[in-house]
Amino acid sequence: MSLPRLQNFIDGQFMANKSGETITVLNPGTGEAIYEIEVADETVQQAAIKSARSAFKDWAVTPAVERARILHRAAALLREHNDELAKHEVLDTGKPLQEAREVDVVTGADVIEFFASLAPTQVGQQQDLGGDFYYTRKEPLGICAGIGAWNYPIQIACWKSAPALAAGNVMIFKPSEETPRGAIELAKIYIEAGVPAGVFNVVIGDGEVGQWLTQHEDIEKVSFTGEVATGRKVVESAASTLKDVTMELGGKSPLLVFEDADISQAVSAAMLGNFFTQGEVCTNCTRVFVHESVMDAFMDELVERTTKNIRAGDPMDPDVNFGAMISKPHLDLVMDYIEKGKKEGARLVTGGNTISPDDAKGGFFVEPTIFADCTDDMTIVKEEIFGPVMSVLSFRDEDEAIRRANNTPLGLAAGVMTQNVTRAHRVIHQLQAGICWVNSWGASPAEMPVGGYKMSGIGRENGIETLNQYTQTKSVYMGMVELESPF
Ligand code: NAD
Repeated sequence: MSLPRLQNFIDGQFMANKSGETITVLNPGTGEAIYEIEVADETVQQAAIKSARSAFKDWAVTPAVERARILHRAAALLREHNDELAKHEVLDTGKPLQEAREVDVVTGADVIEFFASLAPTQVGQQQDLGGDFYYTRKEPLGICAGIGAWNYPIQIACWKSAPALAAGNVMIFKPSEETPRGAIELAKIYIEAGVPAGVFNVVIGDGEVGQWLTQHEDIEKVSFTGEVATGRKVVESAASTLKDVTMELGGKSPLLVFEDADISQAVSAAMLGNFFTQGEVCTNCTRVFVHESVMDAFMDELVERTTKNIRAGDPMDPDVNFGAMISKPHLDLVMDYIEKGKKEGARLVTGGNTISPDDAKGGFFVEPTIFADCTDDMTIVKEEIFGPVMSVLSFRDEDEAIRRANNTPLGLAAGVMTQNVTRAHRVIHQLQAGICWVNSWGASPAEMPVGGYKMSGIGRENGIETLNQYTQTKSVYMGMVELESPF
């Protein structure tokens, strides 16, 4: 039986490629092929640029309140279609429906609403210079490219397009080739909401299509989410035309559990930060540092809750809270890390195997896995695994914990669990990470800027400051008196 086929979404409609090249998308929960998607060949790529260029002329001068009104409609449509969109995300990503229904679409809609509301607040300045004066205009950049990872496909497409479109830019978005559906669904919703054709085009393909976007001379900015190694290639390529870049990359984030922490809350944070979305979250606290005096209590509760409360299975089952790895190669990578953990002397406390749930045979499942007695030099403690593998490390005092937490080239997130408010601030201020939580983990509201320190990123998403990253300032000097000249 032939599979359903999706095409690139250009200038408000689906567009066929000429090459006939397709990518087959698998459902990670079953391992079965679910649809084919056409790769953006040169014809599609040229059409995407032409349509974006033409759409930019009108969208850039559309009054901000009008842009806001349209984007608010898009957010409302996302909410209206929440359940159906969540199911598409589950089929593409293998994450549990109970998560996708509560988080993925909603947090995308929130960010569109947030930037829609901010759009009309963009104002320039004016200053008198004693007769002459100047004023500034906040102008959009032009055509922006968005390149997404596979873990939060529709959310990433919303987070990148919302500030870009609100500020009057247009975007060509390339989702991950493993999860292309969410961006296509968003493109359809934008059209239904009244976003003009060409303002949000979707091109499909792997790294080659991504690289084409990062090199193209008509593109002013690239906002990228993915691995550090890919991010480096994107920055290098974008440098050839001096594009602006936003980089949302990987992490190896620390959670510090002090002796005065509420242990149940600390276990909740550690589990959320390792097992939500089956461990495929960039901000995960995969290095859990626990004060030696509370290690036993922490481990007892952690192991009990991990073995009793996590249910892997068909991600579409609303009672399942733990899904499948994105692909077989990714599952193999995660299993390799688990083997390295064992070989290098970490103590496997629970998990460590693949699983084949009765209702999801053929899916790419790895058990929630916890290693204790970890040391800083182990591979599983140093490298991002992007799977459900938690490393627990013991520490003796605050300075030691801070030093070891910071001992990584990455700096995406960090957290502190303590009842001591002074310590909470003192420690958080010394941690080298862009996204920090105290007595909490994982929440990322539209209002809060997110992004990485060190090699985890450049620039921010969400929050007021992000809108500025999608505008450029034009200064206009107004001569009101006679222009003096020595010539
Ligand atoms: P990836 O780097 O393999 O791919 C990301 C995207 O880049 C895909 O669309 C891919 O097709 C494209 N790509 C590949 N090569 C390219 C090239 N040379 N030029 C341009 N584009 C190219 O990442 P992934 O495996 O899809 O996602 C997992 C990674 O993403 C993890 O490292 C994770 O930490 C990170 N991530 C970060 C954040 C964040 O906000 N910081 C959020 C989600 C995921």
